[in-house]
Order: sequence, then structure tokens, then C-alpha cells
Amino acid sequence: MSSEHLHFGTRAIHAGQEPDPSTGAIMTPIYQTSTYVQERPGKHKGYAYARGKNPTRVALEKCIASLENAKHGLCFSSGQGAEDAIIKLLRPGDEVIATDDLYGGSYRMFTKIFEHFGIIFHFVDMGDAQHIRQHITPKTKMIWVETPTNPIMKIIDIEATAAIAKEHQLILVVDNTFASPYLQNPLDLGASIVMHSATKYLGGHSDVVMGAACTNDDKLYEELAFIANSCGATPGPMDSFLVLRGLKTLHVRMDRHCQNGKLIAEFLRQHPKVDKVYWPGFPEHPNHAIAKKQMRGFGGMISFTLKGNSMEEAFDLASRTKVFSLAESLGGVESLIGHPATMTHASIPKEVREKAGVVDSLLRLSVGIEDAEDLIADLKQALI
Ligand SMILES: *Cc1c(COP(=O)(O)O)cnc(C)c1O
Repeated sequence: MSSEHLHFGTRAIHAGQEPDPSTGAIMTPIYQTSTYVQERPGKHKGYAYARGKNPTRVALEKCIASLENAKHGLCFSSGQGAEDAIIKLLRPGDEVIATDDLYGGSYRMFTKIFEHFGIIFHFVDMGDAQHIRQHITPKTKMIWVETPTNPIMKIIDIEATAAIAKEHQLILVVDNTFASPYLQNPLDLGASIVMHSATKYLGGHSDVVMGAACTNDDKLYEELAFIANSCGATPGPMDSFLVLRGLKTLHVRMDRHCQNGKLIAEFLRQHPKVDKVYWPGFPEHPNHAIAKKQMRGFGGMISFTLKGNSMEEAFDLASRTKVFSLAESLGGVESLIGHPATMTHASIPKEVREKAGVVDSLLRLSVGIEDAEDLIADLKQALI
């Protein structure tokens, strides 16, 4: 379905999808096949081997691309798989300037894997995008931005960063996992590549691991597709189907995540046990004005610290909640609570994480789409 003129919710449900040509099935079939029959060598219907291409995955790639206002979309077997492919656009000696407050797995891959291959990473506070300039060298090839950041919810000005990238001919990658395309479209603001852990809001039901990358640049797309097929971190048809199904409710889920997020952020802010609350929707958030400019809502991700900053107290709280489950991950319909210092950010050295604000009592909430009253009552009984 050609979908450029359609609104977000309609595209979330229909983009990239046609009734199955052989049966009329309204839902895209799970093409559970590894290979495709050819009429004569090289003469086929566009599909040769499923590592390279699968019709269920192609439908998903078109749908995600449509939601990111992108010309091209590619799916990977995880968010990390997508990141791995993107970094492989680089060569030894190339330098990357990355957000300092980064998803722990990204930090781990950059420092523990790719530094061994001679790629150099600089982790920089991008709260003021102009800080990026002082780290640019003749070897800089890429800027890697996460916004809102995980878990401190810093906001980075994508448009200002894109202007710097353009000036120096750098590839700007934005990890858009936290906002989802419903709240933010980095390519519209000048990014070269937008990537997702589709495991989170895009899938939305905590039942699948998947990654995605979108771009408007034909050359970057060709290179990424080549890397994806050569290195093989491509997702199977069942997982593609699950994310395609998840996407159909993305807009409805995100509206509720935003509503619940606001109520819970406000509840936490007035609670006597709570010290800081990190949520970009507060007018006193240092980059609230930028969040308002580049996002259509503030989302359901909130972090907070406890007065006294005790890790034990944070652990106790996280084990007392009953509706919020203690678990890694985010973006599902169900609410989760996590302790970044020992969970998602355990692979980051203590001094580095504390500098970024990931202190001992910091707790992160992925606010789900349950009834807000129940979520607040749950936090209230746990915050004793
Ligand atoms: C989870 C996550 C990733 C990694 O994605 P996986 O699907 O778990 O491989 C990358 N970036 C962010 C911001 C994430 O939350």
C-alpha cells in the first residue's frame, strides 16, 4: 500500500502490507522458509535465500521505514545486531563521538568489541550539542546519539547535532528506541540513520528480540544491506510477524505510555522519599524546550533516586512492587522496574556510570499501559 499521504496510525496498521496474493489472507503470512525455488539459475521472484530477504521481514521493514518517514528500512535479529552492522560501515582508525549516557550494551559493544578492531570512541556529554565540536578530528566519521538517554533521560538536540554532522560530513546515527517513531523522527531532523531496538516499543509486548535501521541515503542503505546479508544478523519470519503485529497498536500504546508516564512522574516528584526524578516532560528538565521541539510527547520512561542514595533501599523498593516487575528491558505493555547500576549498566565502570548520574539508588521505570491508579498505588506501597 502506498502510504505517504496517510497518518501515523493508519500507516502503523497498513504500511508495507498487502493481502496475501495467493489466498487473500489479510495478515502477512509467516513465510517460514529458508530458500525459494528458481525457474532458471538467477530467475526468481526477488527472493533467493532467506538470510538476505524474506517476505514477512520485507513487509516489516517497509512498515518501520514508513513510520520513520524513511526511504529504506532494514531489520536485524536484535538492536545490537543493528548497531553492529552500523559500526561496520567504519574502518580501523575511524573515530566515533558517542553520547556519554548510553545504553549499557552499546557501550559494551563499542569498548569491548570494536575498540579491538581499531575504531576509537569518545563518550561526550551532549546536553549542549556544541560540545561535540571540540571532539571532532580529521578521523571522526560518525556521531552516535541516544535521546532521551538511558537512564538519565537527557535530551540531545538532534537538529543542532545534524547541522554539526553535515558541516563535517559525518554520519549521524540516532538510537530512537526510547522515543519510538510515534514521538520522534530523527531523519526529519537531519540524522543519517535512525536505529531501534524493536524489542522495546515497536514490538511492545516483551515477546520478541529485534532491531531495525532506517535511512534516506541510498548508499548507506546498500552498504547496510550488504553487511546485514554478509554478517547474517537478520531476523526470522516469526519474529518479523510479531513485530509487525506489535506495530499495529504502537500509536495507541504510546498515547497511554505518555499519559501514565506524566501521572507517575508527578506522583514521584512530590513523594518525600524520592530525591531526583528524571523525565523530559518537567518544565525544569534542563532540555525541556528541546524535548518539546523535537518530540510529540514525553514517553513512559522515568528514572528516580532515593533520598540518602542507599542501594539496599533501592533493592528493597524494587522487590516490594507487585504490578511493576523487576526485569531488564522496557517498552512493553506491562510496567517494569530496573536498577541500572547493577542491571542494564553493570558493564560500565562505577566512576564512569556515576559521572553520568547512574548512582546506587537510581531506579528506572518503564511505565506500561495498565491503569495509572494501580501503578501509583503499587509505587506508594513500595515507597515505605
Ligand atoms: C535494548 C536497547 C538496545 C539493544 O537492543 P536489543 O534488542 O536488546 O539488542 C539498544 N539501545 C537501547 C536504547 C536499548 O534500550
